Parts: sequence; structure tokens; C-alpha cells
Amino acid sequence: MPVQCSNCVQRRAVLKRPKTGHSLCKDCFFWAFEEEIHQTIMSAGLLNRGETVAIGASGGKDSTVLAHVMKVLNERYDYGLNLLLLSVDEGITGYRDDSLETVKRNQQQYELPLKIVSYEELYGWTMDAIVKQVGLKNNCTFCGVFRRQALDRGAMMLKVDKICTGHNADDVAETVLMNVLRGDIARLRRCTAISTASDGEGAIPRCKPLKYAYEKEIVLYAYFKKLDYFSTECIYSPNAYRGHARAFLKDLESIRPSSIIDVIHSGETLSIKEGVKMPVQGTCSRCGYISSQALCKSCVLLEGLNRGLPKLGIGKHHRLHGKILAQEPLTEQEEKKLKPVDF
Ligand code: SF4
Ligand code: ZN
Repeated sequence: MPVQCSNCVQRRAVLKRPKTGHSLCKDCFFWAFEEEIHQTIMSAGLLNRGETVAIGASGGKDSTVLAHVMKVLNERYDYGLNLLLLSVDEGITGYRDDSLETVKRNQQQYELPLKIVSYEELYGWTMDAIVKQVGLKNNCTFCGVFRRQALDRGAMMLKVDKICTGHNADDVAETVLMNVLRGDIARLRRCTAISTASDGEGAIPRCKPLKYAYEKEIVLYAYFKKLDYFSTECIYSPNAYRGHARAFLKDLESIRPSSIIDVIHSGETLSIKEGVKMPVQGTCSRCGYISSQALCKSCVLLEGLNRGLPKLGIGKHHRLHGKILAQEPLTEQEEKKLKPVDF
């Protein structure tokens, strides 16, 4: 016998909500999903009337759903936001070029302005070229650091007030687990924050309206709404460490769906023991971007690439930064350590 929607008790249920286990019809699911995001935005005071908000758009399911829902809510609740799409082109042939085509279609479908910033124009390097030099082991470190800064730089060019990213509940829970496993207390404290409004000066505040949205529900929403998104994985392999955290979380979720929210909740309510040293935010002496060191990570990584010493920004080589930047010669031994590994 067909199951009835437990909400409207009129239509036939087409899905069981992964988050709550409720059997719902399509329309009641759309409403519940959108309403929860609205509640997240309202209760955390993420956005204010009149603001220009850039939606970080990759063409993937999360940012496509985010762009769609933000547009729906902006109209339904008259948020008074000026929305636009901001994409980063990492320069990955066969992956980002295709996903950017999806973003361009989204731009038409949602009638939102689109700005694309590329690694090539900002750093003089594409990911294709970086992988050629560094191989496939640390490529995601370069990509992640550059992306973060590229989004900020694009947002500054557009003079936006805020950036919204499509990070979902699974992403946040994974990051909590990864930071626990690495013992990275500073990041552990930061990663559950729904917005970074108070994070240093100069950086544009970021927020995560999908912070409590389950990945499974995002997929269902995109599927039933027939949204146009790009689902291929990056050709330069996903970050292996995150992959393990993800697999572990998926196992937990299959036993107890609330594990995702529970891990986030644990991260949110952790307090840091007095006396634990935290990095002090300053600015990069070279590019002016926020940094807890004299040079930001992005400038160190770039310096390493330009000098053919890509390992400079990977691992603990802080001791050498001063020497390198003062243009002092390195010993043969030191150079050897920073050269690309054979692969
Ligand atoms: Fe960049 Fe790594 Fe993500 Fe590919 S998998 S887009 S290289 S961070
Ligand atoms: Zn810098």
C-alpha cells in the first residue's frame, strides 16, 4: 500500500527524510528543507537587508542547491539581498572547465550575475601546472589555500558584503573529525562557526547557510527539483585524509543518522582549556591578506612554486622562510629537502 505523506496527509510520500525519518511527499519535503535553511539564516542572523552577497558557485550539487534556495528564500521572505555568483577557476582541464559550463547555465537559469576568477590570473599558475611540478600528493593543499584566497579576492573585486558557501552538515562534521584527529585546536574551534564575521579585519565575512543540511537531503532536493549540476569528481583525486573521515562518518550515519548533527554539536560546544596557545591573526607582509605568520600560506606556497621548491609551504619548514625571503642562499642539503619528489 502506498505510504501517505506524514505532513499533509493528502499526497503520496515519495521519500523518507534522511534527517528525521519522516515519509514526505515532494512538496512537503521541499518546504521542510527550505524552511530549515530559512530558520538557520534567521536564527544566526547571517544576512541583512540591502547586502550584496556572493554565492561561491562551483557547479556542484551543494552550491547549486544553495544558489537555488537562496534565490527562492530571498523572494519568498523578501530578504532584500542582492545575490550574485562567484566562481573560482582552478585551471583543471577536464574538470573545472566542464563544471564552469554548469555554473554559466545556472547563471541563466537563476538570472544572477556571475564573476569567475582564475588561479592563472591571480597566481600565474593553473592547477594543471602545479600538479606537473608537485605531483599528486600535496596538490590539494595548494588548491585549498589558493581557493580560499581567490574567493576573497573575487569578492573584493565585486565589493560584496558577504560570501555564502555551500558547506553542508556532512562537510562540517568531517572537518570536526579531521581536526580532532590532527589535534588542530585552532581550526577545531573555527570550523563549526556558521559565520566568520568577527574573524580578523580585511577578510570578507563568510557564512554557511547549509551548515545543518544533510548531504543526502541536498542530493534528494537537487534530484527532485531537477537542478542542473555537475557531479564528476576532480581528476586530481580527492583529499585522502578527508576521504577517511568521510567514510567513517558515513558508517556512523548508517547506524545512527543523527551522528552528523551530534558531531557538529560536540564541536560547537567544546571549550578550549585556558593556557592553550592560539595563533594571533595579523596580515601578510607581502600581499596584505590575513595571516598568523609574517607571510600568508598562499605567498609561501607561491614562492615555493616559483623557485621550483614546492615543499616550502608543506610541512614544517618555517625556519627556512626567513632565509628564502631574504634571498639568502640555501645549503645543498636544504634545497634537496624542498625539491619535488620523484613520482
Ligand atoms: Fe583542488 Fe584537490 Fe579539490 Fe581537486 S580535489 S579541486 S585539486 S582541492
Ligand atoms: Zn600573502
